Amino acid sequence: MHAILCGDCGAPFGLRPDGLFRCDGDQAHELHPRDIDPDGSETWAVDSAGTLVIVTDPAASAQWAREVLAEFLDAEPESYAESFSLDSFSNAIGELLDAARAGLPVSRLI
Ligand SMILES: [Zn+2]
Repeated sequence: MHAILCGDCGAPFGLRPDGLFRCDGDQAHELHPRDIDPDGSETWAVDSAGTLVIVTDPAASAQWAREVLAEFLDAEPESYAESFSLDSFSNAIGELLDAARAGLPVSRLI
């Protein structure tokens, strides 16, 4: 999870009561949700502090977790493949937890 920074001044954006975002910079640049264009499997959310953030889409993280868990279960015990898939599973779950902390629904995916 990382903050989306203002393209004009580099400050993070905070959520306003009207649903728009305003950067914390001196010029208070505004951003409309329709203008947020995350890459690929990323999506935007608002963290508990009201900051606009980018997280991995929970659906993509859940799919990643399923795939690497299957690899872990198929791996030879104490092998590099077992260790690698377990690390990947941990990272996938970490991405899901980041999305959950940012308020995105993840329970229906698991
Ligand atoms: Zn700004």
